[in-house]
Formats: sequence, structure tokens, C-alpha cells
Amino acid sequence: MRLQVEEVSFAYGSIPALENVTFKVRAGEVLGIVGPNGSGKSTLLKCLAKVLKPRVGAILLDGKNLASLPGREVGRYLGYVPPPGTGSPFPCTVLEAVLHGRRPHLTWGVSQRDLAVVTSALAFLGLTDLAERQLEELSSGQRQKVLIARALAQEPEVLLLDEPTATLDLRYQLEVLSLIREFAASKDRLVVMVLHDLNLASRFADRLILLCEGRIFAAGSPKAVLTPENIRATYGVEAVVSETQWGLQVIPVAPVGIPAQDKDPQLRKVGAQV
Ligand code: ADP
Ligand code: MG
Repeated sequence: MRLQVEEVSFAYGSIPALENVTFKVRAGEVLGIVGPNGSGKSTLLKCLAKVLKPRVGAILLDGKNLASLPGREVGRYLGYVPPPGTGSPFPCTVLEAVLHGRRPHLTWGVSQRDLAVVTSALAFLGLTDLAERQLEELSSGQRQKVLIARALAQEPEVLLLDEPTATLDLRYQLEVLSLIREFAASKDRLVVMVLHDLNLASRFADRLILLCEGRIFAAGSPKAVLTPENIRATYGVEAVVSETQWGLQVIPVAPVGIPAQDKDPQLRKVGAQV
């Protein structure tokens, strides 16, 4: 599996949200998307998930244009975990929600294998005892686990996650991100995930894209992307970055004036290639 994003732009009406975004993800890779609020991370993931259609540009899965893939095939290729707080469109139990992840694979009803996959996804995320509970009765962290379990049960080739760990406790942050790494490493799969936490992003992503105002500001290894200069220019924060055996440790120290890219367009490495 190979994902190519070629010169993708997207706007909500007249408000541009993505401009000329180009990158590639290879099989086995975990690509992390970071960037300040409103920089276009969720919009990019929704374009990859075919929830939104880019105005310009193309998204290719193994060379096939996502725009022309039939709906059922999209479900086999792509698993999408929306950001926390996205409500369920209809009332359902935890079990039903996770079983729904199998939909692209179902032929004439639910097979033993479907049930086994769902059972193990529930168990992995510690949801077995909650299986019969209504989704809307759960805490936001528990709901987030259900959405992750649903995407894993789907067994997609490309897993897209929007802030999967934002509402999880420490232990599940580590467990879920480790599982996501294993997911990418096994078979012919890849992961694109938006992470708010720069420390976790540096540890669990092979490469990072730093978005700012809808453009790729920097891309490459976590060490190359998460520099104090880049963090200052995009987040408007003075940060200390140190290396540890568990990835980078980014300590935000203090806000600094206006993010520099507002003042100095030269700072934007427009269309940086990955
Ligand atoms: P991020 O996930 O990085 O915080 P988003 O992709 O959600 O950013 O948003 C990018 C930009 O698009 C922001 O300026 C945001 O206000 C705008 N935006 C997001 N969703 C919508 C929408 N449904 N309608 C109009 N503007 C939107
Ligand atoms: Mg977002």
C-alpha cells in the first residue's frame, strides 16, 4: 500500500483550509500530522478519508484515485477515527458500533471471523464489560476507545486517526499508540495520524508533517521538524527540545508575540516535499 497526496487544496466556501499539500506515505510507515489549532489537520484527514473532496489535486491509493473508488472499496482500504467529541449519528451499543466496523467485509451476515475480530478489538481496548452499554452513556475517553476499536475491527490497509489519544489516560495512550505502530508494521499497511502531543508524536511517528495555515511548513524526521525555531514560528511558543531514549521531549516555555509566519512569509517552506 502506498498513499500519495498531490497538490491538494481545499476550501470551506471562500475560506481556504489546505493549500498545495503534497506528500507520500509508504507501506509500514506511521506519518504524524502536527500543527497549531486551525492549521488544517482535521481537514487533511477528512480529505484522505473521502469525507471531504479536495477542490484541487489528487489522492492516490496504490496509484488509484480515491475520488473514483466505489464506496464499498473505500471502506476496505480506509479506516477513519474522527476527532474526539464527534457525536454518534444514531444511538447504538458499544458492540454494535464496533461490529459496524466489519461492514465492508460482510457478505451474507456476520461470520465467526467477524465476531472474533470484534471480540479481540473490544478486549484489547478494555471494552468487553461495556459491550452492551449505549455509546452516549460513556465518558469521552471510553467513546474514543470504541471508535478506535471500530477502526481496528475494520482491518483497513490505511488507518487515519484524528487525535486518537487526546482523551485517553496515560496507559491507553501508550497502548493504543504501540498498537498503531504494530498495525503499520504488519502486512502492507500504513497510518496517518494527527497528534496534539508533540512528545508522543516524536516517539510514535516515523515522520512528521508540520502544518501551518493550511500549508506544509516542515516535513521529515521528528528531530528535523520539531526544532525550537519551527515550534516558535508555527505555534508562537518558545520551547526547549531535548532528546531522550523515548523520543524528543518538548517543553513549552512561554508564548512569544505573534507567530512569525504572520509577519514573515519567507518563513513558510511552501509545498515542502516529503
Ligand atoms: P485543525 O484540525 O488543524 O485544528 P481544521 O482542519 O479543523 O484545523 O480547520 C482548518 C480551518 O478550516 C480553520 O480555519 C477552521 O476554522 C476551518 N474550518 C474547519 N471546519 C470548517 C467548516 N465545517 N466550515 C467552515 N470552516 C471550517
Ligand atoms: Mg482538528
